Parts: sequence; structure tokens; C-alpha cells
Amino acid sequence: MMTSKEHELLRDFLDLMLNYLQENPLEENKVLNYQDYQSLEKALDTEIGQQGVSEKALLLNIQSYLQNCVRTIHPQFFGKSYAAYSIPSLMGEILAAVTNTSMATYVGTPAATVIENALIQKMAQIVGFKQGDGIFLTGGTQANLTALLCARNQFLPEAKKKGVNASNLALFVSDQAHYSFISAVNVLGIGVNNLIRVQSDAQGRMDVQALENAIELSIKAGKRPFFIGATAGTTVLGAFDPIAQIAAIAAKYQLWLHIDGAYCGSFLLSKRYKYLLQGCELADSFSWDAHKLMGVPLPCSVILTKNKGVLYEGCTTGDISKASSYVFHNLGEASCDLGEKSLQCTRKVDALKLWLAFQYYGDLGYENRMNRLWELAQYAADKINASSALELVYPRQSVNLCFRYRSQKTANLNPFNRDLKERLIRQGNTFLNYSTVNGVGFLRMNILNPDIHETEIDYALEQVTTVGLALENDLY
Ligand SMILES: *Cc1c(COP(=O)(O)O)cnc(C)c1O
Repeated sequence: MMTSKEHELLRDFLDLMLNYLQENPLEENKVLNYQDYQSLEKALDTEIGQQGVSEKALLLNIQSYLQNCVRTIHPQFFGKSYAAYSIPSLMGEILAAVTNTSMATYVGTPAATVIENALIQKMAQIVGFKQGDGIFLTGGTQANLTALLCARNQFLPEAKKKGVNASNLALFVSDQAHYSFISAVNVLGIGVNNLIRVQSDAQGRMDVQALENAIELSIKAGKRPFFIGATAGTTVLGAFDPIAQIAAIAAKYQLWLHIDGAYCGSFLLSKRYKYLLQGCELADSFSWDAHKLMGVPLPCSVILTKNKGVLYEGCTTGDISKASSYVFHNLGEASCDLGEKSLQCTRKVDALKLWLAFQYYGDLGYENRMNRLWELAQYAADKINASSALELVYPRQSVNLCFRYRSQKTANLNPFNRDLKERLIRQGNTFLNYSTVNGVGFLRMNILNPDIHETEIDYALEQVTTVGLALENDLY
């Protein structure tokens, strides 16, 4: 039970939180008050002393933390693959923290187990996995790892018991795929050299002919292909691999097909744009980050599988012979403990924040959200195309704008745009990122907050132009 002192402290803290959420960011705050590491180290009181500090000191530290934080809820925050969260989802996050249960066992968290199962079923149906299963986990990285674990164990049924002799395995992702596949093959003992990065086309979509050639080549070299990872919304370019065509190849060679929909899987929520993932129901597994396009606090991710039992088979640490008898059976019949199909033991209740948001907005609310994001991204693309100082380096394919400042004074546009991004971050008026693909650098603006207005996109692009001009004048 709380003491009255703690009660007062918590109330003051919640006031700070409410104030933070209510501040009018454009008038009162920058998206980031940038400081270098050394100055920030001085500015923050990180000392842990013998004696504890007062409540007042704690609140001051929290204020100073808030001042030095990147404001991801700011309308000028465009630099990452997450942005502002919705209030119902924030409520779910707080609810999970206040109740503080772990997803490992049913008795440890009965209501959350029911809720997580319901959401998994809902999302599996959206993907088109009629008999689907799944689990919440720490992020798209762990989702891809878990998918690959299931695929590996299905292909090598002895692997779990005896370990992996993987030198002749082969798996395929595009050269634009997320780096989590590299970490997954490392962790799973498959070997980074066996991960074949298939060439993508001029827009960063996996080239299907190159995929088939790579599979054929690997077979000729004595390898055993077992897995294709297609990406629905690449992290940098926002490109969609042609899933239906890739599924045909997966079927032809009998390979596990995984869709990494961590970033743009949420477009399945829009009737208008779900065609981008056409064929995804043919896959064996699907990664989906709700913390990216669904506006839910970090992290909130799921791995979905087409068939029941594979997650349990892949993850359980129970007796192996007993475990395999569960394959193709409904795990729920045997056990309600979700921990048995997770790589985690203690696991936060991430389902709550998605549950409250999904309930509050409904299917239609989310459909509108996705359509609005698309519309805002198209607006930004049109603005860039209309600007004489800016140019798109890649065509817009979803919510990412990959563009650069086209300086007339230098041919070295990569370092120029990288410096431009640095200067923008230091000024703190808008927050964009910088990336390179195939040696060409560009600024990256991700439109993930559907509540912003077009004027905020205008403002961000004006900042790029103004700061670009100033940088040109300083340099040349
Ligand atoms: C973000 C992302 C991931 C990794 O997800 P995390 O939640 O950051 O671990 C994987 N794949 C793609 C395509 C992504 O955009």
C-alpha cells in the first residue's frame, strides 16, 4: 500500500506527465534539445549516493529527463519507424505497469492471457491464417528470429535435440531486408554465410527471377534451401516484395515462406491498400510490429504462424517426445500457459495497449488511420516533387520519403545531405533521418503520425530547404 508521501509523489509525477502530453510542441518545444554526450552527462544527475534523494530532487531529475528527451509525440518527429502513440494505447501501457504481471503462465495473468489470445486470433485472421497461432514478443527482431527458429526446426527435426549442422543450409532474403535476419542466423547456428541476400529491383523490391536463380544456384552448389523471408515494407525504402510471386517460388521448392511485415504489415488494415501484401495468407509466418504504424507504445509486436503447434514445438523446453505430440493440435487444449510457446520467461503484458487501442478505434478507425498516413505521405511526395531544391531519390512506396537537398554547389551530395541531417538534429526544429542505399545517400522522412496536418509537412520541408541553403553558404 502507498504511504501518503508516495501518493503525493506519484500525483506530482502524473501531473508532470499530463503537462508533457499537453504542451503545444510547435510553440513551446523543439523536437529535441540536442546536447553532445559530455554536456548531457553533466546536465543529468545520474549519481547514486549512499543516502537516497528527496522526492523533490527526483521530480527535478524527471523534469530534466523530459527536457533532454527526443519528443517522439512531437508533430515534427519523422526520423524513426515509430512516432506518437494514441491515448488508449498509453492507458494500456500504464495498466500493464500498474498491474505488473508476466505472460508466462495463465494463473499468473489470466485476463491478459485471454486478451492476448483474442488479439492473436484477430491478427491471424487479418493476415489470412485461418488456423493461425502466434505470440507477442519484444519486437520485429525477435519475431523474425522466432519464425526462423520454427522453420529451422521443421526442416531439421533433430536440430533441437542434437544441435545444428547447418553448413549446407541456405535461406533467402532481399538485399533490403532488415538486419535482424543476420542476427537470427547467427543466434540459431545457421551461419551468416548461408543467408543469401537476393538482389532487389530499382525500387528495392526483391527481384523474383534473381530469387529463383539464387535458389537454383544454391542447389547446384549442394546446399539445402529451406526459407525465404519476404519483406512487406522495407525499413528504409518502404518497399513491398512481390509476395504472391515469391509464394509461388516457395511452393515450387517447398520452402518456408516468412513475411517480415514488422513495418508495413499494418496496411492489411486498409481495404484500399492491403493489395500491397497480396498473397500473404500463403506464408507460413508473419511478423507484425504494432508499435510502428498502429501508434502503440514501444514495444508491441507479434509473430503469427499459419499452423498451430509450430511455436510450441520451436520454443518449448519440455520433453521433446512429449512436445512433438502437440504438433497440429490446439495448444490451448493442453495448456493455457503462453510461456510454453515463447522464448521469454518473464514477459510484459504488451497485448493490453493494442487491445485498448483496437477496441477504442475499431477496424474502421484503423482503416482510416492507414489511409490518412498514405495520404499524408503522398502529400509530402508531391511537395518534394514541386520543390526546386529537393528531389525524391526513390519513388514513394509507402510512408517513407527518401529525398535529398539538390545542392547546385557540390557534386558530393552524400556528405552534404548527411551534414544537413546533423544540422537539422542539432537545431531541433524537425527530426529526420539519413540513410544510404547502393551508395546513394538521402534524407528519410517517415510519416507515422496520422494526427499531424499538412502544414507540419510543409514546415519540415521548409526547414530542410532553409538549413540546406545555410549549409551551402557556410561550406562553399
Ligand atoms: C523495424 C523492423 C524490424 C525490427 O523490428 P524491431 O521491432 O525494431 O525489433 C524488422 N523488419 C523490418 C522490416 C523493420 O522495419
